[in-house]
Amino acid sequence: MNTQVLIVGAGPVGLTLAIDLGRRGVSCTLLEQKNAPQLLPKMERCNARTMEIYRRMGIANKIRDAGFPRDCPMDVFIVTSLIEPPLLHLPYPSVAQAQAEIAARNDGTLPLEPYQLISQYTLEPLLKTVAARLPNVEVRYGCEFVSCEQDSGSVRARVRNADGSIAELVADYLVGCDGGSSTVRRQLGIKLQGEANLLQLRQALYRCDDLFDRISIGKGRHYHVADAHSTFLIVQDSTRHFTLHSVVANDADMQSMFEQTVAMPVSYEMLYVGQWRQNLLLADSYFQDRIFLAGDAVHLVIPTGGLGMNSGVGDAIDLSWKLAATLQGWGGPRLLASYEIERRQIGARNVEASRQASRGRRAWRAAYRPNIRDHTLEGAETRANLTRIACVEQRKSNEMIGAELGYRYRGSPIVWPEFGDGPEDNFMTYVPTTWPGARLPHLWLGDGTALHDRIGDGYTLLRLARVPADATPLARAFASLRAPLTVLDIDEVRPRDLYGYDLLLLRPDLHVVWRGNHLPDDSARLAAVATGH
Ligand SMILES: Cc1cc2nc3c(=O)[nH]c(=O)nc-3n(C[C@H](O)[C@H](O)[C@H](O)COP(=O)(O)OP(=O)(O)OC[C@H]3O[C@@H](n4cnc5c(N)ncnc54)[C@H](O)[C@@H]3O)c2cc1C
Repeated sequence: MNTQVLIVGAGPVGLTLAIDLGRRGVSCTLLEQKNAPQLLPKMERCNARTMEIYRRMGIANKIRDAGFPRDCPMDVFIVTSLIEPPLLHLPYPSVAQAQAEIAARNDGTLPLEPYQLISQYTLEPLLKTVAARLPNVEVRYGCEFVSCEQDSGSVRARVRNADGSIAELVADYLVGCDGGSSTVRRQLGIKLQGEANLLQLRQALYRCDDLFDRISIGKGRHYHVADAHSTFLIVQDSTRHFTLHSVVANDADMQSMFEQTVAMPVSYEMLYVGQWRQNLLLADSYFQDRIFLAGDAVHLVIPTGGLGMNSGVGDAIDLSWKLAATLQGWGGPRLLASYEIERRQIGARNVEASRQASRGRRAWRAAYRPNIRDHTLEGAETRANLTRIACVEQRKSNEMIGAELGYRYRGSPIVWPEFGDGPEDNFMTYVPTTWPGARLPHLWLGDGTALHDRIGDGYTLLRLARVPADATPLARAFASLRAPLTVLDIDEVRPRDLYGYDLLLLRPDLHVVWRGNHLPDDSARLAAVATGH
């Protein structure tokens, strides 16, 4: 065997998976067909949940240091150009403000980490450096995955090296993180279902050193232009780079569209122009025996709302500990099978959230009329009408905290079932819950540490009662499966009040397996369910 896990594709999802497997002691090889990370603009916002995940991996501060300055506002505008009064200004806190708000509130409603704007072309090299430093992770750029076959014990992959030579790699498992046109997915014959090619836009990347400082209508991250071309300008992490998206006929039009949007004389360089398509697609299946798929390989959303890469990071982190557990011998057969059950429903949920957000954007754009800039009664009416609709509809893209934090693994074989339907789902609001399958809400402890930070990489039995229950039967049950369990006692009022129970069993990814005031009579069964036996 060359490696335990072969990962195809060093986009943000493959890189995150490689780092998490590496830190869990799994040997993996990451293949990337490109010779090096490229200056190709795509995602730019890690959401709060992704930043919580990166905090657990020990890299959140590194990402913040490389990203958008902490004190820059994250505001969103709807404009006619960058020099006219905005039609709508939606303020969102800078990272520094959001961190202060998180530090001051302790009711479980806020994430432990706020969002972070970082361009994908900054994030990928950063993650690559982190991955390459891990002793058990091999990162191979300039190496293309060609095909694979599997049997009951291994996967054999054919790869093309940079010099054109073909080699064979053997692994216990293979994970295709190879993006929307995934070769691995095609090899498995797995189809994407949904709506493809909803809209085709051009995107260009510009370097313009003084533009950000000169925007006097308000600093922010997104400037949506009320026009007939679906144009929007995105500030990239350096504040010296910008991307413009627009429905135009030619690459050259991206120059005039930028100048028209900026509407002030600036010197700039256009570094890249390309096309991309909006899709809402979900794969029929996320795995076949020893081969798994994650990220854009299995779900393609409209980036409105930023649920593309962020959903993929969620996939990576769900799969990572399950692969580690299986390879380390304590994961039962249901553990890896639960990956598709848990993550495909979140893929479907996020496709839906993205559909809702993009419908919102389409709703206010439909109110555009060519007279929008006219100093006439009709022009004023168009502006007022578009603004009124946008004030409700644009928020659907920017305020998806429920989609980001409130997802829960329903019907999972490794989550203890509880009677009833559980709390309602809402993309736009997050209501803290410890319903089995949900992410443990963040709380500060009396000594100023975050409870999340006290929870290790294995299972945790959280004991919150004044007089803690005897955990011996559960500890014995986990020990007999050779699965890691830590018992953590927190004798504080707040966690017990918010979490609602004396005992919570947590998974390595901070999702709740089970909660109660007494351990179940059959602790062995609880341990077996949690570990997929
Ligand atoms: C304009 C735009 C804006 C976006 N904004 C956001 C945002 O703000 N937030 C967000 O969460 N998402 C956003 N997204 C979506 C986000 O970019 C994608 O969801 C994300 O890149 C998916 O990551 P991935 O690792 O799954 O796939 P990719 O980033 O596509 O990476 C796949 C990698 O696999 C490699 N590969 C492919 N085939 C092979 C092969 N045969 N052998 C070896 N390597 C191979 C590719 O070269 C590539 O590097 C945006 C997308 C676009 C287009």
